[in-house]
Amino acid sequence: MDSRRVLVVGIDGVRLDLLPLLDTPHLDELAKTGFLAPVEIDDATPTMSGPCWATVVTGVSVAKHGVWGNRFDGHRLDLFPDFTTRLAAEHRLKTFAVGGWEPMFLARQGGPLFAAPSRLSYLAAAADTTEAWEECDEQVTAEAVRILGSGELLHASFVYLGAVDETGHLLGCGPAYHRAVETADRRLGRILTAVRDRACADTEEWTVIVVTDHGHRDEGGHGGRSPQERTAWIAAAGPGIAPGTTPENLRHADVAATVYRALGITPDPHWTLDGTPFA
Ligand SMILES: [Zn+2]
Repeated sequence: MDSRRVLVVGIDGVRLDLLPLLDTPHLDELAKTGFLAPVEIDDATPTMSGPCWATVVTGVSVAKHGVWGNRFDGHRLDLFPDFTTRLAAEHRLKTFAVGGWEPMFLARQGGPLFAAPSRLSYLAAAADTTEAWEECDEQVTAEAVRILGSGELLHASFVYLGAVDETGHLLGCGPAYHRAVETADRRLGRILTAVRDRACADTEEWTVIVVTDHGHRDEGGHGGRSPQERTAWIAAAGPGIAPGTTPENLRHADVAATVYRALGITPDPHWTLDGTPFA
């Protein structure tokens, strides 16, 4: 039995420059056992969730996947599928995606980004408020803990947390935003504990990647080219990732490339991936 597994946790809209000021022990632990490093969003990519997440999970640039905003209409995800869909369809692997942002998971606003993972859970936010998004992320975390903790065979999974971004939009990057980042880190910790406590843990080797899509202006909001908006980050640890060696020139497209490599899959040249695995 192949023992390789991958978990990608996407936390929307987390400013890199604020992390050192905040209490985020689980991100700190990943940085220590692997790395946490900046991603510069390239000039061709709007600093928005739709395009950035599409690049993260497909491994190709906006010019290919065609997700240019937070409506996904006109996308070419059929040609450039997300890794959960490709792995399930072409490699017969078990994949899982969970979260609460509609176009990622549902056929709404031009979605879904995750077309056909083996298992998909969508948990709606009841309103566009910080409280509703915290509740949504709480349910997403509980679902991720339930599924990942069950021992079910899952080769590659994606968990999406959206409350930090919503808080930035509504309240700016002040104390409430800081608390939202710290809460997201605690949810990450619960998810990682569920993975670590799997009954089959001693027969599995997990690669964990945590990634944000973009930053925020101080007053909240993004989409422009300021350093605060265009600086994202990736943290990762697992087999083949040496602790303390920080990769340079990281790109969002490197995440999908790393997922494939972590599972021992050589990308077909026809996939035309734009990322390279981080080592
Ligand atoms: Zn946003």
